[in-house]
Amino acid sequence: MANRGKQGAQSKYDHLIKLLLIGDSGVGKSCLLLRYSEDSFTPSFITTIGIDFKIKSLPLEDKKLKLQIWDTAGQERFRTITTAYYRGAMGILLVYDVTDERSFANVKNWMRQIEQHASESVNKILIGNKCDVDPADRRVSLEQGRKLAEEYRIKFFETSAKENVNVDEAFYTVARDIALRIDNEVD
Ligand code: GDP
Ligand code: MG
Repeated sequence: MANRGKQGAQSKYDHLIKLLLIGDSGVGKSCLLLRYSEDSFTPSFITTIGIDFKIKSLPLEDKKLKLQIWDTAGQERFRTITTAYYRGAMGILLVYDVTDERSFANVKNWMRQIEQHASESVNKILIGNKCDVDPADRRVSLEQGRKLAEEYRIKFFETSAKENVNVDEAFYTVARDIALRIDNEVD
């Protein structure tokens, strides 16, 4: 297990999968990426670090997936993410914050931008992050999130980057769906 990273670097991957994290500033995209790729959490804003992407390998049945996960590095504050960011994206994790109604309302704007810039076949998943918060601080219910995802016909998870809830599940689900899609396209 300890030298797995080294082996991974030398071996061939069955699929290289480019994933994007999209959503309003402050919803927890960078924290989700940090949780998933390094299993850690930092309570302070880390947008300024300007992470471009992280690599994570994910075994899936008899395959090896190499996930290349891109973070917006703060660009989303201006609500325009360059076309280059979307280029080649195979999956998008569209994130809102369950304590922030505006970030939920903005999901439809992000969806519109995705439709304009991303490939038509891109796999999308909706994520309501910060589900660990005190119920009194919640502004978007689980049901509202589910309903919106149903309207878009995409999968949905409530997550917590802080408490490590459903983070692996969300990334795994989108990566597996992409791998299945690619295998079907090839056949
Ligand atoms: P980004 O702008 O979407 O990349 O958001 P960040 O990852 O920088 O997070 C914004 C703020 O939300 C930070 O203060 C984080 O500590 C906080 N945050 C992120 N994820 C969670 C979470 O799952 N639960 C809680 N309670 N706070 C979170
Ligand atoms: Mg960020």
